[in-house]
Amino acid sequence: MPEIEISHLGVTYLHRKKETTAIRDLSLRIPNEKISVVLGASGSGKTTLLMAILNRFAFDGEIRSDGVDIETMELGQRNLAYVSQTFDLYPHFTIYDNLAFPLKTIGASHEEIDERVLEMADFLGLRVCLSRKPKDLSVGQQQRVSLGRALIKRPSLLLLDEPFSNLDVAFRQKMLHLLRDYQISSQITIVYVTHQIKDALWVGDHFIVLEQGTLAFEGDKNALFASPNRSVRSLLEAEEEPI
Ligand code: ADP
Ligand code: MG
Repeated sequence: MPEIEISHLGVTYLHRKKETTAIRDLSLRIPNEKISVVLGASGSGKTTLLMAILNRFAFDGEIRSDGVDIETMELGQRNLAYVSQTFDLYPHFTIYDNLAFPLKTIGASHEEIDERVLEMADFLGLRVCLSRKPKDLSVGQQQRVSLGRALIKRPSLLLLDEPFSNLDVAFRQKMLHLLRDYQISSQITIVYVTHQIKDALWVGDHFIVLEQGTLAFEGDKNALFASPNRSVRSLLEAEEEPI
């Protein structure tokens, strides 16, 4: 859960009296209990799309979550979690307390917090780090903490904005497998933003390609490979280059 339907979405930023249209007339569907990957060049509107789904600002058009207009819903009602491009851990908290924080805010009991923090630390291989502070962790470990902090609330919708882009290919693949395992066991809806086609192909069920704020492609992997769209072709050709 849930399914997200986006109809005629438009987002224009106003910065120093200059208007930038980041998304225009975008309609697409994010299927229930699948991993949807959002691809596109830098500046194509990927982060803006996530911000709109989070209802961070006013937009044109409509976004529905299981049929309900998100502008009529409280954030707390939606049970979603978001991991930003810059993982923003609390620097003065230990890793244990970083993971525990979302549970404390919803008033979970001490026993429940302890059980769920330890379970998440085991799942992400962070058990040895629990008493350390974020600065004493590697980048990869910090990224896992930030994912753990999002998952620990057991969200039904998880939005990820290039969360593993600082990791090398082998480590990213490991993280994506973890994410896939988690998605299968907990059946949540995931929107995964990346500009890396390899990551997309490893993890995605449903593919969305943005091009300058408009939809260049939406469909499954077979349709992606068959698409004549120029943006899709250049993404797939980049994949064939040796690294
Ligand atoms: P992506 O995540 O695909 O790189 P973004 O959604 O961040 O793309 O940006 C889409 C477009 O909107 C870009 O042209 C970007 O410069 C512009 N933009 C993004 N955020 C802002 C902002 N806060 N103010 C003004 N323009 C913005
Ligand atoms: Mg972005």
